[in-house]
Amino acid sequence: MIKRVRYLFSGVVQGVGFRPFIYRMAISHSLSGFVQNRPDGVVVEVEGPADAIHSFMSSVNKDPPPLADISGISSEEVEIKNDKAFRIIESEAGGPGRVHITPDIATCDDCLKELLDPADRRFRYPFINCTNCGPRLTIIKDIPYDRINTSMSCFPMCALCQEEYENPADRRFHAEPNACPACGPELALLDGKGKPLSDRDPLEKVIKLLLAGYVVAIKGLGGFHLAVDAANDEAVKRLRSRKFREEKPLAIMVRDLETASRISMIGKEEEHILLSPQRPIVLAKKREGDTISHAVAPGVSDFGIMLPYTPLHHMLLEQHFHALVMTSANQVDEPICIENREAIKRLDDIADYFLVHNRDILVRCDDSIATVSCGKRRIIRRSRGFAPIPITLTKSYPPILALGPQMKTTICILKGNLAFLSPHIGDMETPEARDFYQESLTLMQKIAECEPGIVACDLHPAYYTTMIAEGLSASRVIRIQHHHAHIVSSMAENGIEGEVIGIAMDGTGYGTDGTVWGGEFLIASESNFTRIGHVANYLLPGGEKAIKEPWRIAVSLLKQAYGDDWPGIAESLDIVPHKSFYETMDRIMTQRFNSPMTSSLGRLFDGVAAILRLRRKVTFEGQAAMELEALAKGKTGSFLQFNIEEAGDVIHLDFSPMIRGIVAALRAGRSREELALSFHLTLQAAFCKMARTIRDKTGLNRVVLSGGCFQNRILTEGTVAELEKAGFEVFFHKAIPTNDGCISLGQAVCAGAQAMR
Ligand code: ZN
Ligand code: ZN
Ligand code: FE
Repeated sequence: MIKRVRYLFSGVVQGVGFRPFIYRMAISHSLSGFVQNRPDGVVVEVEGPADAIHSFMSSVNKDPPPLADISGISSEEVEIKNDKAFRIIESEAGGPGRVHITPDIATCDDCLKELLDPADRRFRYPFINCTNCGPRLTIIKDIPYDRINTSMSCFPMCALCQEEYENPADRRFHAEPNACPACGPELALLDGKGKPLSDRDPLEKVIKLLLAGYVVAIKGLGGFHLAVDAANDEAVKRLRSRKFREEKPLAIMVRDLETASRISMIGKEEEHILLSPQRPIVLAKKREGDTISHAVAPGVSDFGIMLPYTPLHHMLLEQHFHALVMTSANQVDEPICIENREAIKRLDDIADYFLVHNRDILVRCDDSIATVSCGKRRIIRRSRGFAPIPITLTKSYPPILALGPQMKTTICILKGNLAFLSPHIGDMETPEARDFYQESLTLMQKIAECEPGIVACDLHPAYYTTMIAEGLSASRVIRIQHHHAHIVSSMAENGIEGEVIGIAMDGTGYGTDGTVWGGEFLIASESNFTRIGHVANYLLPGGEKAIKEPWRIAVSLLKQAYGDDWPGIAESLDIVPHKSFYETMDRIMTQRFNSPMTSSLGRLFDGVAAILRLRRKVTFEGQAAMELEALAKGKTGSFLQFNIEEAGDVIHLDFSPMIRGIVAALRAGRSREELALSFHLTLQAAFCKMARTIRDKTGLNRVVLSGGCFQNRILTEGTVAELEKAGFEVFFHKAIPTNDGCISLGQAVCAGAQAMR
């Protein structure tokens, strides 16, 4: 019996080779009809015997293109048209939200095979790609996504490439960056001043330079990397000193999975993430006795590892190196470099050589970072490979532009039930970073095809992003408290509504009372919150200085725990760097001079690390906490006392008893490893006790976690386990970071919910 059925596929189905795939499937099942891109998805009509249509659909469902993500299929039987053939017909023009821009994807297996095949016309061609892989977001200058609107527009295709591009049965059908050695981009090697070197094979030369210990800036997919041989201690140290990056861990790219497993603990889930087409950096526990320089990731428990994701990377690592340091090429606090000239100007003090090419990167996109916690993938930085695929929400909101916080910022545009989250932008501390922010703002409005009139931003009056809000001609500006945004972002991606117990733990966020919040227990819904509890306030003596010098926080915690007896304790533990500081410290704390109040859990981590004499100073944010986590791994310990006090409507979680417990244990000669773990166990127990107390008062049983502190795996896994044991339903981030990378989404949803009231 002959039928004709019309299907509508929705989800990520455009720009991912879906139409040629459908074409091939239809041909192989001898069906006629057509496939077409439409504003709401891909429409397919197939005509033929009913059983052929049935088996066509089961093949489509079984083996869709790797990058497609089909979220819905609707079908209806339509009138027979007696088509002679199956055709790909032109996209339906016009209408909003046509083709979603897809992310940049790691070289696929088919391309890799051709890359290494001497008989292939793209043998060892560093820009090989197809509809299943290659650059996307990073080469666009405008939408729709067509070659003319990308940085490939200046490379007219040769006849062979053109034929592939036009052939619906070809893997390169409408692969916009399609190219070959005859018509496409090429590599060039420059010296440290940007002068071209005339090497016949720039890649071979670069391998020699890296082997000799030089620092080479290598142009990648979303920006430049600075590369050195990861086994060469001196080279790694040279890179660090030139980059003014003393201790912050450096990412490494390893040849293959086997190498990854040799240097780190790679479980099934880590393996899956490493090999995924997004190819993020994966944080995985170091193994002892590896061959990687100790200067790569000093003091922390993980290596940040990624596998090669461009043809160039594959060739770089093919033979000579097991691992290369591949760190984003930038100066401290500045965004990643993308232009050749920009790189030469900004990196001339760092890089000895530049391996560049003439396919322009038009959109900055850092490497994404992921880890595994509670057995699942957690995203720490959502950029290359993920952005700009929108997050699908369970309901629709009015259009909102959310501007993010000050650090680790992202931008979010809410449109219907889609949240378009920008790639990671970073910290808004330098003019370069602010320029990048503006670039991202324009880009996201193009990608979402939407310039919302309602703007959401932080409560903090001095944030750059807050000031941007004032400058936009918005119909309405809605300001969202930082920790409320944290909790709502986690709710939104988990698709939950109504009131929940929110536990938001991080370094800093501006509170409604003007103090620095960061250890918050909220009763939150998407439009509202009350602060039902928090970590008991303590002082940050010296303000900003205390963030860089955690010994100051240690002193504050000791004063809170011991009152006027603190100097004796601090002296016995050798916490204060110099004798002359005792009196000043006591005075500024007593007089509350330049000593703001905070409930920050992040700073509590810093203070406890200083009490344990891990370090007096930190060189990057989160360093002390990471080292405390590393120290606690795999050891035994038990939790210490804490205090929960109800003060009117607010519950205070006081860690002074824990501080006294740590000091007593140190004096009794207990190990720092054991106490580091005890500290984590105490936090888990305290969070669970707080949640129980709040449940008793409110009857709420759903707990939502968010905040940078939950990047700490011991803390997160332990807290989730405790809460679940106590019968709570627990929700945590999955697709977006728990750190401030999630704030713009939370702001957008909060503002959207408020705008609908
Ligand atoms: Zn490919
Ligand atoms: Zn060509
Ligand atoms: Fe935060």
